[in-house]
Amino acid sequence: MTWLTEAVAFLVTFTYCSYFEWFIHRHLMHVKRPFPFHEAFKGHTLVHHQLYHWNGKFEVRGPGRPPHITLRWYAFPIMIGLHLPFFALFQWLTHWPTFWGATLGCVVYFSGYEYTHYLMHVPRGHYVERFRWFKFIKEHHRLHHKYMLRNLNVFIPLADVCFGTLVTSEGWRSKQAKRERTLTKRRAEPERRKVPAQAEP
Ligand SMILES: [Zn+2]
Ligand SMILES: [Zn+2]
Repeated sequence: MTWLTEAVAFLVTFTYCSYFEWFIHRHLMHVKRPFPFHEAFKGHTLVHHQLYHWNGKFEVRGPGRPPHITLRWYAFPIMIGLHLPFFALFQWLTHWPTFWGATLGCVVYFSGYEYTHYLMHVPRGHYVERFRWFKFIKEHHRLHHKYMLRNLNVFIPLADVCFGTLVTSEGWRSKQAKRERTLTKRRAEPERRKVPAQAEP
């Protein structure tokens, strides 16, 4: 049943990558760390978040390839390479054919991250941009550029749901609407109290 164990390994690592993405984004890209991780904070928090501000500059249109959107060239091979010894060890210990499925799960997730993140900032009219799911994660990421410690997933927001860091525009809007309703109610309260007082002789 090689294909079955490889397929399960693919699904497990693909799901795991949502947590890995969340962890790296939260603890390396948004926290200042010493060498050799200092570049991740600088490139992401200080440059990417400032260049592509949530309000107005989030999207870049026109020809050319805007800078500081994709990860550094070495990030992808490092992230895959870090996992390979664990996949090999797991297969060696269990004798279950899982190595290639697990590797593919990581490659697909990280490629999906790079591709969708690029399209979020640089719309190219690709077919995927029409999907409701893409529009959802694009808005999800735009809110991350506003609230840096929320919506830390870019590709699949599973870890955001599990760790309670997911915010949606609907959620923020409804919170604001709720706040406004409460304020209106409070403002109306003294008025209502005044009515019987004025009616008394
Ligand atoms: Zn971004
Ligand atoms: Zn970020």
